[in-house]
Amino acid sequence: MKDHPIIGISSSRLLLEGNYLTGMPKTIVNQDYVDAVSAADGIPLIIPSTASREELCALVNLCDGILISGGMDIDPILYHELPHPCCGAFDLEVDRSNLDLVHIAMQSGKAILGICRGMQLINIALNGTLYQDIPSQCDGAGGHKFCYIRMDTVHTVDLEPESAICEIFGKKSIEVNSLHHQAVKDLGEGVRVTAKAKDGIAEAIEVPGKNIIAVQWHPEMMLQRSSEMLCLMKDFVNRSQNHSL
Ligand code: MN
Repeated sequence: MKDHPIIGISSSRLLLEGNYLTGMPKTIVNQDYVDAVSAADGIPLIIPSTASREELCALVNLCDGILISGGMDIDPILYHELPHPCCGAFDLEVDRSNLDLVHIAMQSGKAILGICRGMQLINIALNGTLYQDIPSQCDGAGGHKFCYIRMDTVHTVDLEPESAICEIFGKKSIEVNSLHHQAVKDLGEGVRVTAKAKDGIAEAIEVPGKNIIAVQWHPEMMLQRSSEMLCLMKDFVNRSQNHSL
């Protein structure tokens, strides 16, 4: 067994405009993801945001687990919808590559952790859909978009009994941060919602029989204040390690 499993982290593409870096897109990952993987004793490896299928296969082979990170909205064409007026900016080339990564990671059977957009991508990969904008599409739902300090908790999440997420936290409900305006709508094939906000928004999914847990909040941003979020990261790194036996 490896002492420190290699954790591939999906990335985004940043286009800077209006300064001397215009025209020089960058592959980026929030430092919080890198630090959270390190804190959980994994070795972070950043996967380029526009990697081809061939490159992704080679990279997933190198990794013991894959973290599908957060980022921009997802082009709704990927779940056969037109953009809602409140859908945010998206980057189809990155969305397609990230979705390929989810498929390749799922086929490998390696451990997957989805965070925020990562949870949404996993649902889409299994033919599910999204709410493109919670405030205008979900009556009575609120409080998901605003989290002024990224590690502040802003809403409660109820955990389903007999789920992996409930076992990790060892309780029925937790307090989480929230930085999303999209959410899982129609569930993908085999997807089970294992945590919900009080307004019914899906906050965690699992795929029974597959090595996948995904959450809508940002545990990687909460580590300085929440030791239980480190447990979630460590569970993922342990699942990755066990696969590399
Ligand atoms: Mn939320």
